[in-house]
Order: sequence, then C-alpha cells, then structure tokens
Amino acid sequence: LLRVDDLHKQYGNTQILKGISFDLERRETVAIIGPSGSGKSTCLRCINYLETPSAGHIFLEQELIGEKKLHNKLLRRMNDTELAPQRQEIAMVFQLFYLWPHLTVRDNVAIGPMKVRGMPRAQAYELADAMLDKVQMLHKAASYPEMLSGGQQQRVAIARALAQQPKVILFDEPTSALDPELVGEVLNVIKKLAQEDRSMILVTHEIRFAREVADRVIFMDGGHIIEQGTPQQVIDNPQHERTRAFLGQIG
Ligand code: ATP
Ligand code: MG
Repeated sequence: LLRVDDLHKQYGNTQILKGISFDLERRETVAIIGPSGSGKSTCLRCINYLETPSAGHIFLEQELIGEKKLHNKLLRRMNDTELAPQRQEIAMVFQLFYLWPHLTVRDNVAIGPMKVRGMPRAQAYELADAMLDKVQMLHKAASYPEMLSGGQQQRVAIARALAQQPKVILFDEPTSALDPELVGEVLNVIKKLAQEDRSMILVTHEIRFAREVADRVIFMDGGHIIEQGTPQQVIDNPQHERTRAFLGQIG
C-alpha cells in the first residue's frame, strides 16, 4: 500500500534520516520505536510531505507522493495545491491535538470534509457523528475542546483523521502528552482501529502496546532502521545490541 524508498533527510549539514526503506501492507499496523532523536517523527513527516525529503521517494499504491514525473523522466516537487489531495489519503495524528478552540467537537471533525471535499454540511455532520461514535465521543459532539480532557481531545483528533477517509493513518506518539490515567482510553481506540484492519503507522514509546497491536515493529536508531520484524522477533527476541540496549533501558 505504502512504500518508503531510501528516504533521506538532512537539516543543514546534519543527516537525520540516512536511507529508510520499508513497506506498509494494506490492513497492516506497523509500530516504529526507537530512542529520542532517532528520526521517527521526521520519517512520518516526510511520508506525507510535511517535510520535504532530501532524497528518496514515497509511493502510495504505486503513485509518487509529492513528486511529479516530467516528460523527460525527471521528477519535480509538487506544490501545495497538487499535494493537498494526496495529503487527504494520509492522515496524521500528532502528540498534541490541535483542535480548533472556537469550533464544537462536531464541527472540528466535519470541517475537513466540508472544506476539502466540499461535502454538504448535513452529510459531513452525519460522517462526523459516525466517527465520533467510533471513538466514543458522540456524547460530547456539541461541546468545545476546552471542556474536554486531554484524552477526549485526542480521541476527537482521531475522529477528525478518520473523517478524512484516508488510506493510511500516521500516529506520532499520540499518548505521550497525556496524563497517565488518560493514556488507556486513547490506546483502546487505536487498538480498535487496528482490529478493524486499518492501515496504520504508529510511532510510540508504549512498547507493550506496540507488541500487542502491531503486525510489524521497526526499531530506528540514528536515522537508520536497525531491525524490523514481528513484535515477537523485535521486542521479545531482538537480534541487535542497540535494540536490546534500548528495550533494556525503557524496561
Ligand atoms: P522523539 O522520540 O524525541 O520524538 P524522534 O525520533 O521523533 O524523537 P525527530 O523529531 O525525528 O526524532 O528528530 C530527529 C533529529 O532531527 C533530532 O536531532 C532533531 O533535533 C532534529 N530535527 C528535527 N526537526 C528539525 C528541524 N526542523 N531542524 C533541524 N533539526 C531538526
Ligand atoms: Mg518524535
């Protein structure tokens, strides 16, 4: 479904991603784990071209993301207008939820479909309510974000991503900004999505959760993929010293 091919990213002279390649199959959940600063967020941001890769390519269903083929076989970067429809196919849920404070929960979820897809309001509300129901937030549809807990806000952010009707959902540490007692409700929602066979990439520090929901785990360190495999292989039976050290550290 999604292919990351030899992705490089540098800021100035600093190489952050040094050739990342992996595939996400349809209906698969891939967890990316690794130390702080290893490039996990940068990798996700390159996948939907929030950051422009320095080299390498992203394909969604064989289609190049963020680049257009010219007649002479050269590639050129897409502009934001060209990128917009592609970004719709790859939703992202961030550590912080970035809901619109002046909009109700329902409008926060419905506004994307209305603005981007030109969906009529009634239909967008119907979609929003269905997605809010999925994350068990329908009862708060008329509330404003400031009236919600962090966990509830994050669930609304997930509903908003779902309302985009994307092919792939990227999660960047969706629970790391939450109070510990609120983490579980968000993980439950993500687990449900995994069980629904959505195609997802999840960057997380919750190793036990990654082990439980991921079909595949990727361990990154220093801008490289050090190893990847099933949770049993990577988490229970790591082959590389760096993976062992990392897993040992976080316990
Ligand atoms: P964490 O677990 O802390 O979220 P991460 O694996 O997501 O870490 P990244 O956020 O991808 O790591 O950052 C990787 C490296 O890239 C870090 O050293 C960071 O300082 C650097 N970096 C990230 N964004 C930029 C930027 N816009 N300009 C310069 N350097 C950056
Ligand atoms: Mg990060």
